[in-house]
Amino acid sequence: MSAPEFEIIKRYFSNINYNSRIREHLTVPLGDDAAIINNALFSEDLVVCADTLCEGTHFLQSMDPKGIGFKALAVNVSDVVSMGAQPLACILCISIPTQDATWLEAFAAGLAEAAKVYGVSLIGGDTTKGHLSVSVQMLGLLNQAPLRRSDAQPRDLILVTGCLGDAAAGLSSLLSKDQDLSPQLITRFYRPDIHVDFVTSQQGVRACIDLSDGLIADLEHVCRASNLSAILYPNTLPFSPALDAFARSREQDPVELAIIGGEDYELCFTLDPAKLETFRSYARAKGVAVTVVGVMREKIEGTPILVEGKSETWLRELRQRGFQHFTSKRSQ
Ligand code: ADP
Ligand code: MG
Repeated sequence: MSAPEFEIIKRYFSNINYNSRIREHLTVPLGDDAAIINNALFSEDLVVCADTLCEGTHFLQSMDPKGIGFKALAVNVSDVVSMGAQPLACILCISIPTQDATWLEAFAAGLAEAAKVYGVSLIGGDTTKGHLSVSVQMLGLLNQAPLRRSDAQPRDLILVTGCLGDAAAGLSSLLSKDQDLSPQLITRFYRPDIHVDFVTSQQGVRACIDLSDGLIADLEHVCRASNLSAILYPNTLPFSPALDAFARSREQDPVELAIIGGEDYELCFTLDPAKLETFRSYARAKGVAVTVVGVMREKIEGTPILVEGKSETWLRELRQRGFQHFTSKRSQ
């Protein structure tokens, strides 16, 4: 480890510590060759995931570093909560071309803010010189049955949290350097709102996935894993007034944008239909907006997803066209 790297770690990454459970169990904290977590913590199942953001693929160097820091951590919280687990701690592997103190400071501030909001401690990582990329690994704890993509059942209702399409519209505004950038949409691109401690099998949730690649693409994973098909109700899809205005300004259909736009990091889950009313009250009490957007059914050969009132050609063409400026390359 060279001196500047040591300085970077000490200055920006050694004090992001917002999870009280891991704090109590971290017998060797950040700073040694590796962190050690006392095994008394693991009466629950350990959940592990990682997500990498590469400059040029997932973000541009010109983008807001604070937003990138927030998002790098939040997208991993999203993966943990979509399994039905709670976030605990993370590891950050960052590669930076030069020691740009302004960029690093803002990035670390965004990362720390997300850690605080979602209750995560940064317990280790790696800092190297190289092409700008940020990889976060997240640990979480699961104290219930996992919410797997493969556990949907025929007649389960399909629900989503929040609004769809905002993040992709925000990205599109950023990339087109729009004169009247919609701040709300851009905020949704940088700062996904992750619903921690929400989806749970006790409330009748069966399968769950977080929406990183767009509703159609992600719901297709659930369909394939569960060996079922899905019917979507396009007229119920929740979209924000900001997305509506964005779509209108570009003469696009907001429904199409809501179906295809990625990076919202809302949750899409299937629910035992008998639990709908109790689930709605539960969601209201938690302050999370949920919308029924479709239903699972037995597998239809060759068609994982049907959109009610639309032809298969319509859907295929929509997927091919994708969200303007927003190619699938970015979400890999
Ligand atoms: P080593 O040379 O033994 O691999 P490092 O110099 O890479 O150790 O790291 C020193 C300490 O700082 C370790 O505890 C490591 O986990 C931590 N660390 C390094 N980079 C980061 C980072 N970007 N974020 C958080 N912790 C980091
Ligand atoms: Mg070492």
